Amino acid sequence: MSKSKPIKKSSQSQKPSPPKKRVGAKLGASHQPNPIPDTQDKPYGLVPLTTQGIDRQIPVGQDKFKHDRFSGKLHLALTVQTASFVASGVVAMGRDVDLKADLIKTAVHQKNQLIIPGSSLKGVVRSTYEALTRSCLCKTKAKRDEIPKGHGECKIQKDKIEVCPACRVFGAMGWQGLVAFPDAVGQKVSTSVGFMPSLYRPRTENPMYQNDGKVSGRKFYYHAVKAVNAGEQRGIPVQQAGQAYVFKTALQFKNLTEAELGTLLVILGQDSDYPMALKVGGGKPIGMGSMVVTVEALEKPGNLKSRYTHYVLPDSDHLTDEPLKRFMQTAIVAAHQTLIEEYQLKELARILAWPTQRPAPEGMY
Ligand SMILES: [Zn+2]
Repeated sequence: MSKSKPIKKSSQSQKPSPPKKRVGAKLGASHQPNPIPDTQDKPYGLVPLTTQGIDRQIPVGQDKFKHDRFSGKLHLALTVQTASFVASGVVAMGRDVDLKADLIKTAVHQKNQLIIPGSSLKGVVRSTYEALTRSCLCKTKAKRDEIPKGHGECKIQKDKIEVCPACRVFGAMGWQGLVAFPDAVGQKVSTSVGFMPSLYRPRTENPMYQNDGKVSGRKFYYHAVKAVNAGEQRGIPVQQAGQAYVFKTALQFKNLTEAELGTLLVILGQDSDYPMALKVGGGKPIGMGSMVVTVEALEKPGNLKSRYTHYVLPDSDHLTDEPLKRFMQTAIVAAHQTLIEEYQLKELARILAWPTQRPAPEGMY
């Protein structure tokens, strides 16, 4: 195995990167954020955990529409930037899926239209939402004793229902969330064959952990200009969505605050100060799965009665173009003011920045 070449940390910008701190470096005053863990030779970066404590509050239910909150649908188009593959777990004969390969790992699809299962998309958005807010460490592979004090998963108790920002929006064990992600459906009836190298397991010396063995941050893979294509000799054929393939879906939300909706919009790359793309599906370490989101429309029934008594929503409730931009901008401002941890956002935006000049990772397979 050849040693992987270090990947430049800040290929996104011309600005010189700040001096790097060592993992486990002594913290200064308590308001100082955690040092950024050093992941120089890794295909990922870490967003440090919040030092402000988890912000647990009583969640709003979704049994009733609340008039001071937002309910509706966000119509999204996801455009594939680097080859993307969401595994179905099924291996097929190439000819059965109209592709030139003997055996191929198939993507989730219906009649050659690829699908991104809503659950996959929800997972991606949730983990990002957790990183940006004072949320618990929920979907983590870390063992219980590796989770820093107070950061453990929220628990719903009968007499005391208080959960973190991410659990309030996406749900917790025993508590239904306020957003639903239907499957995103491919808009073209065509897929292509790609080759995914067999990836090594993560190495054991892991910057995920501080010197005391506690988790130091959340892991996000960098985007790359182009995914590594291992070629027929070295890779496993996979049914992939190539560049410019478009998936569409409508994210449904109920009883969100403006700041919660704004935070979702930031994650979907709608904040012009922090342009980001999502990373979906397999092959993340080798640059696969980058997708740019466009919000095509927002349905926001101002008057719920009209939603159920009119087949077509009034114009003021179906936003596109300039009115949509203005609405999103206001929500994003609210998110910055009350919900988003700016330090964590800066780190996340550095890792997930799109477009990128970052080269395809080398030596990762
Ligand atoms: Zn939580």
